[in-house]
Amino acid sequence: MGKLLIVGTVAIDEIETPFGKTGRVLGGAATFIGLAASQFQVESGIVSVVGDDLPDAYLDSLRAKNIDLEGVEIVKGGKTFYWKGKYHNDLNSRDTLITELNTLADFQPKVPDHFKDAEVVMLGNLHPSVQLSVINQMEKPPKLIVLDTMNFWMDNTLQELKEVIKHIDVITINDEEARQLTEEYSLVKAAAAIQEMGPKYVVIKKGEHGALLFHDENVFFAPALPLEEVFDPTGAGDTFAGGFTGYLAATDNLSFKNMKNAVIHGSNLASFCVERFGTERMKDLKKEEVSRRLLEFKALTQFDIELK
Ligand code: AMP
Repeated sequence: MGKLLIVGTVAIDEIETPFGKTGRVLGGAATFIGLAASQFQVESGIVSVVGDDLPDAYLDSLRAKNIDLEGVEIVKGGKTFYWKGKYHNDLNSRDTLITELNTLADFQPKVPDHFKDAEVVMLGNLHPSVQLSVINQMEKPPKLIVLDTMNFWMDNTLQELKEVIKHIDVITINDEEARQLTEEYSLVKAAAAIQEMGPKYVVIKKGEHGALLFHDENVFFAPALPLEEVFDPTGAGDTFAGGFTGYLAATDNLSFKNMKNAVIHGSNLASFCVERFGTERMKDLKKEEVSRRLLEFKALTQFDIELK
């Protein structure tokens, strides 16, 4: 069983979509990554920080999935990272209404000793200096370091972000962010420019239009499953990242061929995440549901053209 170290927010979210609103619910990049990765045979652990306002039941729901939380610091009297977002009618775009860093503002991540040899490190969306500090704490060079980020960090901490990007193997980023980072409109050119910055693999997420994996001259495309019900896209990108890294840690095979499968697993799991608000769908997701939908994915993309 491979070890997967996850760094990212464990958050309190409030979400508004055209279908309704949540109150304060469990969210955060590390939460969604951990829940997705728990679908695979991996030993995963989260490094994060929360305040003591976070209900115990939220952390218990992660422990119930065998996610190690020794690296989650609980600050007495502190407040948990809080994010409020509102989706537009097309559900593909959203406005961030509030981001309160709270305890995250002076977070010094501490990787537990038993995760310093993790084969795969998933650096979820967080301050790039925190992401770099985690890389520096690893005792054995990980086989794979994957980083996710967003426009918030490009706007506020671009130099630090460019520094950490030099040290990673895979970046997962959405199309608009890839354009912002590289100032290239073509995603093919953007992916090439990002590979020049460090990561040899670039995954560009395109929401309901799927994801592209770039490596040297190779490109692979995974569609997103056309769904009848999309309720709340929050966490879809993180769920993708959790599926991608969980599968790679479990299979211990970093070939391009296996990475293509990892992209499919990530897309498959993300298709569940969006069907309910917050973490609702992911927390009770059954293995059989996941396997059944993988077959749908296969059918969606398989065709048999005779080449003359
Ligand atoms: P996604 O929909 O994949 O972008 O992820 C949404 C999750 O990211 C939410 O649960 C938020 O708590 C978290 N989040 C939002 N803004 C930030 C930020 N600036 N840094 C880290 N996590 C964030």
